[in-house]
Amino acid sequence: MPPARSPLTLVASHDAGRSVPASASARIVESVTAAIIERRLMPGTKLSEQKMADIFHVSRTLVRQALNQLSRDRLVTLEPARGAFVATPSVAEARQVFQVRTMLEAAMVRSLCAQITDRQIAELRAHLRDEAAAVARTDVTGRTRLLADFHVVLARLGGNEVLAQLLADLLSRSSLIALMYQSSHSAAHSQLEHERIVDALEQRDAEAAAALMERHLAAVEQNLHLDPHTADLSAALLPTL
Ligand SMILES: [Zn+2]
Repeated sequence: MPPARSPLTLVASHDAGRSVPASASARIVESVTAAIIERRLMPGTKLSEQKMADIFHVSRTLVRQALNQLSRDRLVTLEPARGAFVATPSVAEARQVFQVRTMLEAAMVRSLCAQITDRQIAELRAHLRDEAAAVARTDVTGRTRLLADFHVVLARLGGNEVLAQLLADLLSRSSLIALMYQSSHSAAHSQLEHERIVDALEQRDAEAAAALMERHLAAVEQNLHLDPHTADLSAALLPTL
């Protein structure tokens, strides 16, 4: 059932456990989003309608529908006469995305403390173990997806689908932003910060959970190279990576 393999990085390969999209265009939206979250598709990449139609074995009309949806999600930019491109979020947009995430996610973990069950804590622990395993075996695609999913899993646990959907959208945009501005916040750090957040949830310490989430998102944002005026000269001239 999945489309033929192609050199283009548009094939969602390991999403078998996730819900099956209703239509062909939804499947394309899902594949492109997954490729962005897993950092297989870079900002500014041209998304040729014809190539995508070939890859997914669908009409260009369906591809166009998918691109329109992705453009509404702000993952794709449609340029008259030039076509569709993976979006290149601006610095202002990047800051705004993190500002909104901080507001939503701090409030989210605070209210989650009042209702989270022991079973849900166990679920989060299982997720953290998967994260740690992916970080340990330097599975870049897997860990990127798992680290992003942690935030969506938290939103789902609260039972608020509107919030979960909103955060899923912001997370995809955050992935693009991380690609665009070369995030240097390490996966290992994120994983440890997630552990601390779950510790606070387990203790039902709402204030600590909210503060840890704020600190985590601030650390992620600070490690984006958003401000060229404060670029670290020695880091620029002597890259360690
Ligand atoms: Zn995180």
